[in-house]
Amino acid sequence: MRAIVFYQHGGPEVLQYRDDVPEPQPGPDEVLVRVRYAALNRLDDFVRTGWRGLDLAFPHIPGSDFSGAIAALGPGVTGWTVGQRVVANPTIWCGRCPACVAGRHNRCDRFAILGEHVRGACAEFVAVPARNLIAIPDDYPDELAAAAPLVFVTAWHMLITAGQLRPGETVLIVGAGGGVNTAALQIARLAGATVFVVAGNAAKAARARNLGADWVVDRSAEPNWSKAVWAATGRRGVDVVVDNVGAATWGHSLRALARGGRLLTVGGTSGYEAVTPVNLIFGRHLSIIGTTMGTQADFEAVMAQVWAGRLTPVVDRIFPLADYPAALARLLAGEGFGKQVVQIA
Ligand code: ZN
Repeated sequence: MRAIVFYQHGGPEVLQYRDDVPEPQPGPDEVLVRVRYAALNRLDDFVRTGWRGLDLAFPHIPGSDFSGAIAALGPGVTGWTVGQRVVANPTIWCGRCPACVAGRHNRCDRFAILGEHVRGACAEFVAVPARNLIAIPDDYPDELAAAAPLVFVTAWHMLITAGQLRPGETVLIVGAGGGVNTAALQIARLAGATVFVVAGNAAKAARARNLGADWVVDRSAEPNWSKAVWAATGRRGVDVVVDNVGAATWGHSLRALARGGRLLTVGGTSGYEAVTPVNLIFGRHLSIIGTTMGTQADFEAVMAQVWAGRLTPVVDRIFPLADYPAALARLLAGEGFGKQVVQIA
């Protein structure tokens, strides 16, 4: 089959587009999906670069997000038929450990991510657990469906399940164009929150306003944006900050929080070694809440909102599969607004 593969860790130069990659076989309780579209995530870059302790079976195929049609059912699969259009929660869990039994799939003892610990979806076929699937409604476009799973399940778990966001609260999202941030902005609005956004430039600020942000600061014009947030909230601060930038923005994010505020994080694109002023944490009764990915209940809840059109995946560009490196370069440069998607069939 055609696929994007790499045989060793390294920069984008280790990526290969090949047409002789063996098709995966669906194991027990798995389905084989013929992929139509796959979407890129920053995770793809982290996995390819590698880290200490990451033990991949090469060749590895990147890709956590896809839409496609079921091509074959593995042993024991019931309730699904060949040809059904599906997406999958990219959170992989064992189903047997105490966390899984409690429904907390993203805290599984054997937690994994499609495209991270297991071969991903930037290929003609991908094998995934049947319990992770959700059917795509007949009238919903495949390219939008492919852009949704990872960022929407992550943002939903972060804001709603872990962050306990309530109507009337204020949320500040640090960054505008990334997939998780465009999802978080929409979920926060859907939850009845007032949404503040820190955008990297004027164009992204305008796009964030179009997505429904109530107040936007362009940090290229206003580097001291936490002070601007402080002023805009009548020197109160916001109830929740979503910060997936990490080291570069952490201090500003903490200073933008109101008394009792929560800082939510699912990533740290600028670096992980952030400085935390401890006096702010105790003095203002702040909480720092970290999460990763989401449960199947989170996935079902958020995808129901996507199918209903109350949340809309934002697609920046669609590339042919062979141009995956160009799509990755656009993602890493932060040039676009929304998801980079590759078309496979
Ligand atoms: Zn488990």
